[in-house]
Amino acid sequence: MSAPDPKLLPNIRVVLARTSHPGNIGAAARAMKTMGLSELVLVGPAIYPNSQADAMASGATDVLAAARVCATLAEALADTRLALGVSARRRDIVAEWLTPPEAAARLLREAQAAPVALVFGNETSGLSNEELSLCQGLVTIAANPAYSSLNLAAAVQVLSYEIRQAWLARPDWPQPEMEAASGVEMENFYSHLETALAELEFLNPGSPGKLMLKLRRLFSRTRLAKEEVNILRGILTAAQTGRHRRQK
Ligand code: SAH
Repeated sequence: MSAPDPKLLPNIRVVLARTSHPGNIGAAARAMKTMGLSELVLVGPAIYPNSQADAMASGATDVLAAARVCATLAEALADTRLALGVSARRRDIVAEWLTPPEAAARLLREAQAAPVALVFGNETSGLSNEELSLCQGLVTIAANPAYSSLNLAAAVQVLSYEIRQAWLARPDWPQPEMEAASGVEMENFYSHLETALAELEFLNPGSPGKLMLKLRRLFSRTRLAKEEVNILRGILTAAQTGRHRRQK
């Protein structure tokens, strides 16, 4: 049997959103390194850098030192083509629910073509609706229903382990079905959509309500191909141009 593909694990990113305890960041780095993952991204950590993070990382301070800090989750996911939220609670916002082995297989398959991410939430509040609206699927670790909330770094360990087992078991993954739009392409699409909806007077910029959040959820659930985003943006431009022409 041929060896697993060494290019896949560096394309799998662990994103920790709004982590409260720096010790958990270090423990997550350690959990990742034991399983061969190295790409750690921190979104708005409450306390970082910090000696507790270094202490809990133990021999994985290299993963910690290389960690990127981003202000927003959108920034952390800009170049990714698949982002899966990790949550103890099943949330209706995301259409697809995956077990950790299913998530591992999906991530490894997509990682052949582009960076992919697992997004973990804050220790107390988990992932917010806004954060989940940037994810195309949700991974739940089936735990004791009476007490299902794992420590953040323990959850990172479970997912990293599953990824490694799947990676070791399979030297060749099927190619991704389509060229999915990247995070930044989706963000550009959403700002175009928002501008166009305001111009068409469907959205009132003064009181936008939750419209954009709901539209984000809709498109995150469907997971658009790059080509489909181009078509939708073409439709928006046509609607904008038609309106400008009628206004003249
Ligand atoms: N009270 C929070 C739990 C936060 S635990 C909530 O109800 O969402 C911190 C993070 O660890 C979570 O955001 C999630 O990413 C991960 N996590 C903890 N337990 C998990 C489980 N059983 N399945 C999947 N992820 C889990």
